[in-house]
Amino acid sequence: MTQMPINMDHHWMPFTNNRLFHQEPQMFERAEGVRYWTPEGREVLDGSSGLFTCAAGHGRKEIAEAVYKQLQKLDYTPHFQRAAPISFKLAEALSDILPEGLDRVFFGSSGSEAVDSAIKICLAYHKAMGEPQRTRFVSRSWAYHGVNLGGTSLAGMVGNRRDFAGVTCDVVHMRHTWNEEQRFTTGQPEEGAHLAEDLEEICMTYGGETIAAVFVEPIAGSIGTIVPPLGYLQRLREIADKYGILLVFDEVITGFGRTGSAFAAQEFGVTPDVMTLAKALTNGAIPMSAVAVKTEIQQTVIGSISADRPELMHGYTYSAHPVACAAALATLGIYESEGLFDRAASLSPIFLDAVFSLRNLPHVTDLRGYGMMAGIQLTPGEAPGAKGSIVQRRLFDEGLHVKATGDALIFAPALTTSEEDLSMMVDILQTVLGRAE
Ligand code: PLP
Repeated sequence: MTQMPINMDHHWMPFTNNRLFHQEPQMFERAEGVRYWTPEGREVLDGSSGLFTCAAGHGRKEIAEAVYKQLQKLDYTPHFQRAAPISFKLAEALSDILPEGLDRVFFGSSGSEAVDSAIKICLAYHKAMGEPQRTRFVSRSWAYHGVNLGGTSLAGMVGNRRDFAGVTCDVVHMRHTWNEEQRFTTGQPEEGAHLAEDLEEICMTYGGETIAAVFVEPIAGSIGTIVPPLGYLQRLREIADKYGILLVFDEVITGFGRTGSAFAAQEFGVTPDVMTLAKALTNGAIPMSAVAVKTEIQQTVIGSISADRPELMHGYTYSAHPVACAAALATLGIYESEGLFDRAASLSPIFLDAVFSLRNLPHVTDLRGYGMMAGIQLTPGEAPGAKGSIVQRRLFDEGLHVKATGDALIFAPALTTSEEDLSMMVDILQTVLGRAE
């Protein structure tokens, strides 16, 4: 049967060269396990868990069934002065696996919403503490914290901020933690904890009492997996405590087993005050995000507001959507019953060995990795990002989907990936990155 041609004129695609896409579309029509299929029926292995979303692999029946059942039972409820029992169940289930002390959860629909919600919660907390002057934020060069206005302000990937001047809020950036000497380091680099002193310096320059929070991705994901140097996150915690600044871990990518622990906070032994979560929360099946905060943050905000009004003037139509809650509960069930966080920890050495086998290939200038995520840095092409997009296309043609940012590939397959499928993915990387051209 001949397929009808698709009219692509009307969908304005995000973070996409729309003109190029129309000439050379890269579409997926079906997925299962760690495989996608194009509309022509060609198989493409998924080397990035979708977009770090599908940690338990695609096409999970348990999630589909939970969603279907929930849709039939209660398709929607508002969450302003109304609720469905399922959202409380999910918040409790999350608090069981979150770092100790972070057991109050606010829901949204995307990582970007979680980041902007976290910004507002930090501001509300300081106001409640009698410090409304704390309106400045600190983040890090090369950071990605989503694309809403707060996240755009925090962005350290300047290309995501440049075109939107005028809408951003007051953010000071620390340096990123990558340096030349660390090329081809597996796991945490030994050198670099001193870079946390940037926070101390910013406190001296601007006044620590003006700063509300410092946002970091424990492992900088979107830029291409930059692993924190040993002691770096611990030092950020100490400096934040010294100045009364909240420490926020954006775990939108690192959450739900990606590092080998439930969250990077536990993996690196540093407990933040606030955490943002999304993506693998529902295995990518239904949009959902969460902000987890320490009990005292929520209690302080609640206690500061008179009992006859809502405590946080913030929320979304789709906050705690019951269908998303059902998807998340089913996903957490899979993580637990299949022991996927432990599986990530045990698969990690095999995964990292496989990644580091790419070391001497002509296009590779650096490799980084931790847990089940790795960055493959490519020799730059004619313009920044040109090589990344050419290589990404070649990989797609050879049967592997991998996310590219600029000239870095981010290789982060599902935690369920078999060793055989992992070798097939690495073989395709070997083939494409091994070509001299
Ligand atoms: N924060 C981090 C660390 C991310 O990696 C992302 C997305 O990749 C976001 C926030 C934004 O999430 P979303 O695209 O769901 O808005």
